[in-house]
Amino acid sequence: MEKKRRVYIQNFGCQMNDYDVERMVEILRAQGYAACASAEEADLVVLNSCAIREKSEHKVQSAAGRLKELKAARPGMVLAIAGCVAQQEGARLLKRVPTADFTFGPDQIPALPSLLARFSDGRRRFSATDVIDVEDYAFLDADPEPGDVKVTALVTIQKGCDNHCAYCIVPHTRGREVSRPADEVVAEVARFVALGAREVTLIGQNVNSYHAIGTPDGDDFAELLRRVDAVPGLVRLRYTTSHPKDFTEKVAEAHRDLRTMTSWLHLPVQSGSTRTLRRMVRGYTREEYLRKLEHARRLSPELSLSTDIIVGYPGETDAEFDETLSLLAEVEYDNIYSFGYSERPDTPALKLKLKDDVPAEVKDARLQQVQALQREITARRLGRFVGRTAEVLVEGASRSGAGQLCGRLSGNEMVNFGEPADPSRARALVGQLIPVRITATRAHTLVGELTGAPIALALASPPRRLKVVA
Ligand code: SF4
Repeated sequence: MEKKRRVYIQNFGCQMNDYDVERMVEILRAQGYAACASAEEADLVVLNSCAIREKSEHKVQSAAGRLKELKAARPGMVLAIAGCVAQQEGARLLKRVPTADFTFGPDQIPALPSLLARFSDGRRRFSATDVIDVEDYAFLDADPEPGDVKVTALVTIQKGCDNHCAYCIVPHTRGREVSRPADEVVAEVARFVALGAREVTLIGQNVNSYHAIGTPDGDDFAELLRRVDAVPGLVRLRYTTSHPKDFTEKVAEAHRDLRTMTSWLHLPVQSGSTRTLRRMVRGYTREEYLRKLEHARRLSPELSLSTDIIVGYPGETDAEFDETLSLLAEVEYDNIYSFGYSERPDTPALKLKLKDDVPAEVKDARLQQVQALQREITARRLGRFVGRTAEVLVEGASRSGAGQLCGRLSGNEMVNFGEPADPSRARALVGQLIPVRITATRAHTLVGELTGAPIALALASPPRRLKVVA
């Protein structure tokens, strides 16, 4: 029997990239490839790159550099670079990474078999960066092997982005926004649930502007949430990522009303200063953002909030930065993702001639201030769970050590807890919603102990709102 070829995919970046890797694995499996755990064992290595920050771009180049000796020792091995850096840099990336055989952008994933054939025919290096027109774009249906489906699954509802946030390269690398037909989304969610997933995260660059249904009020995303919520067997529904200017009251109401909707809301603010937001071309003010959050919190007081913060954006003064600190203190997010601004090619900021004028040491100091403040807030927010019993959807073995399971609260907080001594009982808990008493906090996680049997799940209507904390 012919030996299976092996592929190793190393991923960098966001959940869109995680999703792309899953599709690449499926496409390559149909071509006779089996996934393997290291580049050393692989016939094909794919580095899936992220262009959002300069650091991520360097990471992929270093990873390719480290493969130099391996490639020299195994001349048959093929190295491809995929993702947003491949799209952004095109043939220039081949020059910078001499070990790469070919590069391809996100829209070229379905063409991966023909790209491999093209390379093996001529062994000539090339870059494939054609972007598919909005009218012709077709979403790849997920085709997971039953054994590969985890408790949580990602389902894409959109590709690309029509916004023009000045710091962002995504519209350049992923193209115009396309919404996936709602029937496809619902069918894919149902497929994942049938194979064992219990929680689904709907993903897109700006899910709030989803527009494939044509509802009279134009709030297609709220309607999509309602349709996905009706999938029998689905226990939890999340989505990411949102744009505050498009976050609607109906979506806030969905958090309150829908059976499966979780109490996690990721609403990237980027800055607490309206002046900075204007230079970022974000389309909302600090006050408008706060009003939306306040409304969402009024409807669902248990909401856990997270956000993204950029410090050191061009022209950011001390006073503007202080407004970001004051916003963090006012909102009390459960978690934030914070970054120092880095100039990216092909972004509106360059066209607007916004100079990267905040010195690196000032950016570093601001980043540390933001993170120190957030550490205090996160500790306080996690502390509210201690002594309470919370519903945890069990995901599997914990990274925190043997004999530990992990899962998440509805608000996305990770909980580690001791598993039952009987291994079959422990295994049976995976995918179940169970009551866990929270006993302590760690820097970003919670520690708990099992308090009872799995909670009977309302897997179909009538709707049951999951209790976050009992
Ligand atoms: S909404 Fe803004 S930050 Fe998000 S992908 Fe689109 S352009 Fe980038």
